[in-house]
Amino acid sequence: MAATKALLMLENFIDGKFLPCTSYIDSYDPSTGEVYYRVPDSGKEEIDAAVEAARRAFPGWSSRSPQERSQVLNKLADLLEQSLEELAQAESKDQGKTLTLARTMDIPRSVQNFRFFASSVLHHTSECTQMDHLGCMHYTVRTPVGIAGLISPWNLPLYLLTWKIAPAMAAGNTVIAKPSELTSVTAWMLCKLLDKAGVPPGVVNIVFGTGPRVGEALVSHPEVPLISFTGSQPTAERITQLSAPHCKKLSLELGGKNPAIIFEDANLDECIPATVRSSFANQGEICLCTSRIFVQKSIYSEFLKRFVEATRKWKVGVPSDPSASMGALISKAHLEKVRSYVKKALSEGAQIQCGEGVDKLHLPARNQAGYFMLPTVITDIKDESCCMKEEIFGPVTCVTPFDSEEEVIQRANSVKYGLAATVWSRDVGRVHRVAKQLQSGLVWTNCWLIRELNLPFGGMKSSGIGREGAKDSYDFFTEIKTITVKH
Ligand code: NAD
Repeated sequence: MAATKALLMLENFIDGKFLPCTSYIDSYDPSTGEVYYRVPDSGKEEIDAAVEAARRAFPGWSSRSPQERSQVLNKLADLLEQSLEELAQAESKDQGKTLTLARTMDIPRSVQNFRFFASSVLHHTSECTQMDHLGCMHYTVRTPVGIAGLISPWNLPLYLLTWKIAPAMAAGNTVIAKPSELTSVTAWMLCKLLDKAGVPPGVVNIVFGTGPRVGEALVSHPEVPLISFTGSQPTAERITQLSAPHCKKLSLELGGKNPAIIFEDANLDECIPATVRSSFANQGEICLCTSRIFVQKSIYSEFLKRFVEATRKWKVGVPSDPSASMGALISKAHLEKVRSYVKKALSEGAQIQCGEGVDKLHLPARNQAGYFMLPTVITDIKDESCCMKEEIFGPVTCVTPFDSEEEVIQRANSVKYGLAATVWSRDVGRVHRVAKQLQSGLVWTNCWLIRELNLPFGGMKSSGIGREGAKDSYDFFTEIKTITVKH
């Protein structure tokens, strides 16, 4: 009888130690559909232990100087960078994204997150004003909040987790992080580097498991005064309810239904490849991905023809294939959900220009049960359709014509989300005018996903509450106090 290969078992990381859990859940390789590791199914008990450890570690860590904390963060960045290839392989296998993307985006950005906040924490200043007629001066001081609860999603696992851990630590908080149960491996690998980087036990605790069990235990814990959450809008609603009785500080980075607005004077040679990328990068599983493309009528036919041709070249392949632009979706359930939107569009009379149900997907035999799907372009769809209103979070984008600037701004703003938008035009006046009127936390004009980490990141309306970035994250992860001195 052939021996069954032992599955990798992850462990929680609490108080500087790896601890087994009493129960586990399966985690799947999206490119094959096979179980390949098991994740602790933690709950309240593990959160209580992590809170205890984080509370003990807080006085020591918060009283270090920003320079001392910065050194630890930089060391962690160096160690992550030394493990870049190993981490990229793990991220790609766990999430389904291409190895190329994990190597060039996810892991380098995780390294950069630590370096960025290691540097930015050294440059904050406080405010001071005087009231000479009353013999007073006023100034502000900032102090770390305490134990930071950090909850992250599966689409950019280490990238988004470190985007929270780094500023929380830099500002002097201790941390309890809960990555997505679907993608826990790189967070567990990060735990192995903490001690080497000089992170004292209890400063960073990582507890694995599902949202309803361990996530809710973290959010409802009275000694965790702050929750930074990135994920979906329904989960944010639940988190808001659970934290309300404790008046917790909340940062919510949620979904989007992001428009691209393409005017007739756009440079299509640049716009088309960028819009293919903005629609389908990471299988369309980025909160910033374009999912509604508005094209001015005079160029609609040309745009559509060239866009569909370019989409057909966006190759779906196994994540390790260097020629693949896109890998597998995160899970079977998610694949089915994304497909159901295409079916719904068809039932409403929309046209599928390429992808799902139109073209053929070619995969090796061992990947036939993987969660793959072709990039799909939908046209002839009404703005009221759920495909134009709801976040699909997969490789599906809708293209629709428009006449005027006024009309397109109104249509772009007609959804509940307001995260990211792109505007393509060579008319500088129009670019500023339109960008200003869009209800969107981020607007890229004539480009997509060029990030300046110093500046605020986040969404309006149902896309979230709060912003992240150098100053915004520092403000969130600290409490401010105004002191008045009369002399
Ligand atoms: P999700 O809301 O299902 O899960 C996110 C995290 O919350 C996971 O760790 C999950 O286990 C946890 N969780 C689930 N239920 C919980 C509960 N009741 N209490 C506490 N924690 C709970 O989201 P997802 O499917 O993992 O991620 C996709 C979503 O994330 C999309 O909507 C996407 O747009 C959004 N997203 C937003 C950004 C951004 O920066 N705005 C970035 C990436 C992803």
